[in-house]
Amino acid sequence: MDDYDVIVVGGGPGGSTVAGLTAAEGHRVLLVDKDVFPRYQIGESLLPATIHGICALLGVREEIERAGFVRKGGGTFKWGTSAEPWTFSFAASERMAGPTSYAYQVERSRFDLVLLDGARRLGAEVRQGHRALGTIREGDRITGVRYADDTGRERLATARFVVDASGHGSRLHHDVGGAREYSPHFRNLALFGYFEGGHRMPAPHAGNILCVSFADGWFWYIPLSDTLTSVGAVVKQESATRVQGDPDVAYASLIDDCPLIAEFLRDAHRATEPPYDRLRVRKDYSYDRTVLWCPGMVLVGDAACFIDPVFSSGVHLATYSALLAARSINTTLAGLGEESRCFTEFEARYRREFSLFRDFLLTFYELDTGEDDYFRQARRLISSHGAADEAFADLVGGVSSQDFSRGMFGNVLAEGVQLQLRGLLGGAAGDEPPMFPGGLVPTADGRRWRVPDA
Ligand code: FAD
Repeated sequence: MDDYDVIVVGGGPGGSTVAGLTAAEGHRVLLVDKDVFPRYQIGESLLPATIHGICALLGVREEIERAGFVRKGGGTFKWGTSAEPWTFSFAASERMAGPTSYAYQVERSRFDLVLLDGARRLGAEVRQGHRALGTIREGDRITGVRYADDTGRERLATARFVVDASGHGSRLHHDVGGAREYSPHFRNLALFGYFEGGHRMPAPHAGNILCVSFADGWFWYIPLSDTLTSVGAVVKQESATRVQGDPDVAYASLIDDCPLIAEFLRDAHRATEPPYDRLRVRKDYSYDRTVLWCPGMVLVGDAACFIDPVFSSGVHLATYSALLAARSINTTLAGLGEESRCFTEFEARYRREFSLFRDFLLTFYELDTGEDDYFRQARRLISSHGAADEAFADLVGGVSSQDFSRGMFGNVLAEGVQLQLRGLLGGAAGDEPPMFPGGLVPTADGRRWRVPDA
């Protein structure tokens, strides 16, 4: 039986991040994924904190910059009571102004492969085509993983920590205990596909995500190249019958009912090359968990939680939680902090970041108001005294004020700023104050917690 310090199940952004950042500390790390990369995944619109923070920590930022992904300066919404589309730019945020005021729209097959290769370069052993079947438990501790290798043979591997980064569809998350709780507010269903030749917004917004609300829900319109566009309908639960029957007919009819999207697609045709040649459906994707870790095991990314795609927060939450988990594992394995203290910090920071997006989404789905109200609500939520459009950009960009007197959410978002600074400056980013009274702060390289009196 093979023995490791860390076993990571899943090679998406969450899994690659935690595997890379624990392997970089010299630990023996095994990452298994049931698929062979490149593999398809939805979640193509990213946030600046992922690109400039996480990708830099993983040593892949330059590769991402060279990959030719579409540059995303912000988002354009036809949403609420405004008759005309309105736009927010990451550059409106003082915190992201300059070299970190953009993200990318990515083909996830290519983006995820860059991160997985980055994890391997940092020292993780990556085995593709290996499916985790369950965990091994000794007493109250998870001590390893049972998996089927690429020949179908069942094998066991032990580790001090098992990370479940296996996304929304696997059942491994049950082994930490507790339950998955589906949000009563976001019971939407998504039907999505790809077009060639769709219209582009004029510069400088051509790379923005466009979100357009209509009677039965809303559409995303994400430019993935000069010609390829990801187009998804997010349909309210009350309108779910519209997606019954032939999906192609349903998709075409939903597009017809959303005039701006129909206009953008007037001269376009459905993509014909795999993996973009077919429609896909996702439902039951907005959920949280009562328990996020137990002795020897932790959940990151969609294995733990996800909330509605309108603010493109999925990959950010996956990679951010993976960073927090890696810090906790590295600190514990180095004997510098107790497991429970480190993972309490992991859980507190992760839950706050998740709640921030969830709480703002609740107000954003109230469509009887306009952009000024959304901006003001963002400002209230992050306890900002600055310009309201800047607060909105800070919030949906995953970063905000470093002024720690501004209240709880200012603290939460400050971690996003630190992520970007750490990515850009490495150890020179300086110390940050604890997010919670008596809480832990990251070390200068961002890869561990600094535990007082340890
Ligand atoms: P994943 O990317 O799902 O990776 C999990 C990996 O685990 C996979 O490679 C899988 O093969 C592997 N795996 C699963 N089971 C096993 C097993 N038993 N053994 C071994 N390996 C296994 N996010 C954004 O940031 N921007 C967006 O625009 C966006 N749009 C979205 C639209 C919709 C409709 C939905 C539903 C989600 C969207 N998301 C978006 C969310 C995004 O898809 C996820 O949050 C993100 O992919 C989570 O990353 P992850 O690493 O946790 O999991």
